[in-house]
Amino acid sequence: MRNILIVGGGYVGMNAARRLRAKLGAEEAAITVIDPRSYMTYQPFLAEAAAGSVEPRHVVVPLREVLKGCQVHCGTVTGIDHKRNAVTLEVADGHVEELAYDVLIVAPGSVSKTLPIPGLAEHAVGFKTLDQAIYLRNHVLSRLDEAASTMDREVRRRLLTFLFVGGGYAGIEAMAELEDMARQAMAYYDALDPGDMRWVLVEAMDRIMPEISLDLARYTLDRLAERGFETHLETTLRSVENGHAVLDNGVEFDTDTTVWTAGVKPNPMLADTDLPLDDKGRVQCTPNLQVTGTEDVFAAGDCAAVPDLTNPEPGATCAPSAQHAARQARRIAENVLASLHGDELRPYRHSYAGSVASLGLYRGVAEIYGVKVRGFPAWALHRTYHLATMPTLHRKARIAADWALSLPFRRQIVATATGRRSTE
Ligand SMILES: Cc1cc2nc3c(=O)[nH]c(=O)nc-3n(C[C@H](O)[C@H](O)[C@H](O)COP(=O)(O)OP(=O)(O)OC[C@H]3O[C@@H](n4cnc5c(N)ncnc54)[C@H](O)[C@@H]3O)c2cc1C
Repeated sequence: MRNILIVGGGYVGMNAARRLRAKLGAEEAAITVIDPRSYMTYQPFLAEAAAGSVEPRHVVVPLREVLKGCQVHCGTVTGIDHKRNAVTLEVADGHVEELAYDVLIVAPGSVSKTLPIPGLAEHAVGFKTLDQAIYLRNHVLSRLDEAASTMDREVRRRLLTFLFVGGGYAGIEAMAELEDMARQAMAYYDALDPGDMRWVLVEAMDRIMPEISLDLARYTLDRLAERGFETHLETTLRSVENGHAVLDNGVEFDTDTTVWTAGVKPNPMLADTDLPLDDKGRVQCTPNLQVTGTEDVFAAGDCAAVPDLTNPEPGATCAPSAQHAARQARRIAENVLASLHGDELRPYRHSYAGSVASLGLYRGVAEIYGVKVRGFPAWALHRTYHLATMPTLHRKARIAADWALSLPFRRQIVATATGRRSTE
């Protein structure tokens, strides 16, 4: 019996494991998925989870529910020694174990790309995990509660100033959805007016959302400006010490909320492996998704430099996206099967279809195969597309039910505990 080990149970890991388990008999191979979390996060729904349009638990997929017949190991992989076909992982309370493999799939994804900006580590929060989405929702709503309870204008101004750094689609969606939620919540605060809020976006490039064409990005900026967003393009955050933000264009202000959404980098764990990495720290792959120089190690998703065969530019690789990750998972599973059965492996080839983004309830922007869609149709497209690609009928039904319930009833705008441990 062969031993297939999968590092990471996200888009690539979970989908590859499901497909392999469906096609390989239990006596043919044991499949083990290692992930510190027991669930896969459907990241495109994090903004809606933060805004309360869907229940946070509904945007994650429990690995044990969908990976019947696979072993799910809750642990953090800390190193891969391919010379010995061994993976080291840290499990509960720091205990270190080693697992051997015949075939390895490397898919630990990416992490936020932070910079050594003074105050950033102490004051900012990223937007990549469910915990961060729940934290931000509670944080923004509790700022409203605190602002409504103080007579001090300076303190109120600081509490109601929300800074987002990074204008990719993840950051724009998070900011637009949270502002929409906060604006709706304001209806319940006699002491506050939506005009009291200040939402600031800082982006180093001369445009936002590089995933869509320039005119759609401009359209998005115009819609955000109509809602009162303040945007600083070609600007960087210099420091945010003690909650005082300083931009390199001379603008300074106090804020209690800094959200860092300025891109991702490959999982740093990859540096502790003997796999070949490129200059960005990604695992180097062949078009068949095999790690370069190996036959039994495969990699895909945000952690991998996968050649983009649809792009004529020499050395082009696939961008980090769910769209590629989900498709690469299918190809990896098929190629692992082919390698086990001695069949020919096939290359991964997929041209990027486009992006859909929600900008708050009933507002969106989308570009699919060059077709540009704006406003309500784009928002409807965003919901339809992601509902269709959300794994399992169970999750789809729960999300659809959340949306249906928010038609007669307004979304819930209560800030609950942020998960701090306490004996009180
Ligand atoms: C807010 C947000 C919105 C997004 N929206 C879109 C969108 O609309 N469209 C789109 O195409 N893409 C979107 N993306 C990008 C997309 O989610 C990623 O490209 C995709 O998740 C990559 O899949 P992956 O399997 O490589 O990584 P992931 O899905 O991130 O999975 C990696 C897994 O590895 C686990 N892991 C991490 N470290 C270790 C370790 N040391 N040991 C073991 N396991 C580990 C993690 O817990 C995780 O479960 C979005 C991303 C974010 C953050």
